[in-house]
Amino acid sequence: MDYDVVVAGAGPAGLMLAGELGLGGARTLVVEREAETPQSRYGSMGARGINQPTAHALRLRGLLGEVERAAIWWFGANTPPPEQVDAGEEQPAVFVGHFAGIPIDAARLRPPEPGDEFLGAGLVVQADLEAILARRAAGLGVEVRRGVAVTGFEEDESGVTVHIGQDTVRCAWLVGADGGRSTVRRLAGFEFAGVDPVFTGCQAVVDIADPEKLVIGGWQDGAHGCYVVGGWADGDGPPRVHTVEYDVTPEDRDAPVTAEEVQARLRRVSGTDVTVIRVHVAGRYTDTTRQATTYRRGRVLLCGDAAHVHSPAGGQGLNLGIGDAVNLGWKLAAVARGSASDSLLDSYTTERHPIGEWVQRWSLAQTELSAARGPRADALRAILTEVFDTPDAATYVVLKIGGAWQHYELPGDHPLIGHRVPDLPLTDGSTLAEHFREGRAVLLGDTPVAEPWADRITVVTARPTGFEDQPLLAFIRPDGYLAWVGEDGLATALRTWLGQG
Ligand SMILES: Cc1cc2nc3c(=O)[nH]c(=O)nc-3n(C[C@H](O)[C@H](O)[C@H](O)COP(=O)(O)OP(=O)(O)OC[C@H]3O[C@@H](n4cnc5c(N)ncnc54)[C@H](O)[C@@H]3O)c2cc1C
Repeated sequence: MDYDVVVAGAGPAGLMLAGELGLGGARTLVVEREAETPQSRYGSMGARGINQPTAHALRLRGLLGEVERAAIWWFGANTPPPEQVDAGEEQPAVFVGHFAGIPIDAARLRPPEPGDEFLGAGLVVQADLEAILARRAAGLGVEVRRGVAVTGFEEDESGVTVHIGQDTVRCAWLVGADGGRSTVRRLAGFEFAGVDPVFTGCQAVVDIADPEKLVIGGWQDGAHGCYVVGGWADGDGPPRVHTVEYDVTPEDRDAPVTAEEVQARLRRVSGTDVTVIRVHVAGRYTDTTRQATTYRRGRVLLCGDAAHVHSPAGGQGLNLGIGDAVNLGWKLAAVARGSASDSLLDSYTTERHPIGEWVQRWSLAQTELSAARGPRADALRAILTEVFDTPDAATYVVLKIGGAWQHYELPGDHPLIGHRVPDLPLTDGSTLAEHFREGRAVLLGDTPVAEPWADRITVVTARPTGFEDQPLLAFIRPDGYLAWVGEDGLATALRTWLGQG
């Protein structure tokens, strides 16, 4: 066997997964079709929002600080909450999210409740995040081959033969992290259930001969769609334009976006005769909404957009992919090492599919509302604008979209089982998150019951500050989700998640 795992695709999901596999001791090859990493100034089409589960995962692996420093905008854990607005005093709205373009003002959010954890959230240029994840994967011994594509594979009982350009390699597991139009998903015969698109979006960095014909900044709504000129901090560079058009027949998705195309789109949505001279970089997307009905078929798994696609409007795809990678990585590494049986991999679909499903539901609802035109849609939008201006609704939407309540249905009675563990300060001066850097499970408290699994767990005997006298014993999976807490049943939980002791 040349590798334990071959990962097709070095996007954020593939790179995060590769790092997790490297951390877990799996010999991993990443194959990326594109020869160049998207490092140029305009190379990444815009910034991506980082949500709470992603911030948690990055924190556990010691990457959050680096991502925060690379971010173009970051609302940190220690950023003071927006000041309360005095009645009668006009304050500018602080935008913290939206639903179908209806903005949500930070001043409407309820103050955090005791025990709520906020690790930070913000906007990161996707190329910068990928660079951080690529450096980490390389540092953990992962091999990355760029400029060659996975073109086919044959699976048998003992492994998978993967065709990479003119070459073939043999591995035990193949993961398709090769994006929304995944080759691996198609060749493996996964069912990809869902609906076709109703809009086409186009983002481009362009030179415009007569920019004064357009409104600069802010989304401009028209009869056929909308556009925005401006975008993320590019200094004095050429403008970034973004168009969204409804009821447009999808293009040949593989054709490069030309200046003529961007111009035609801009003219349709702006109602002007603006002239686009040159395209520096451009990309199209649609709101096709589909999800693989299972994320595993035999020795082939899907991760990230390869497993689910939807409109990017809700800012969820990258976060979903990082979540998939962190859920799958430690499990696949354990199976590849031989310490856990391959049935552990079935929990990947069980846990991640429902999260993808709710993202798709929220995305579909937002697309429907954004696409709707006319007096009925205007009335609905006006009512929702009023509703989202109330503390309950504003807080609900922001927490829901930010992934604050995401959890897994895991076995066990305790209400916190299946939830992310907070980064508790410990009596030895460390914090709980620091103990997850090696990618092992953590036992908070010590007991001889866990000895047979000593090679797979980090035992933390320091106590959470404030709970020094409480005989707390908790088992947390390598992805930072609480799997067991209490007195009885620890051996069963360890066997379930880590294999035989
Ligand atoms: C306009 C826009 C705004 C967005 N905003 C957000 C946001 O704010 N927050 C958010 O969470 N998400 C956002 N997203 C979504 C996010 O960009 C994607 O969900 C994310 O890139 C998916 O990551 P991935 O690694 O699964 O796939 P990709 O990023 O598509 O990476 C797949 C990789 O696989 C490679 N590849 C393809 N085929 C092969 C093959 N056969 N062999 C080898 N390699 C192959 C590709 O070259 C690519 O590098 C946005 C998307 C768009 C379009």
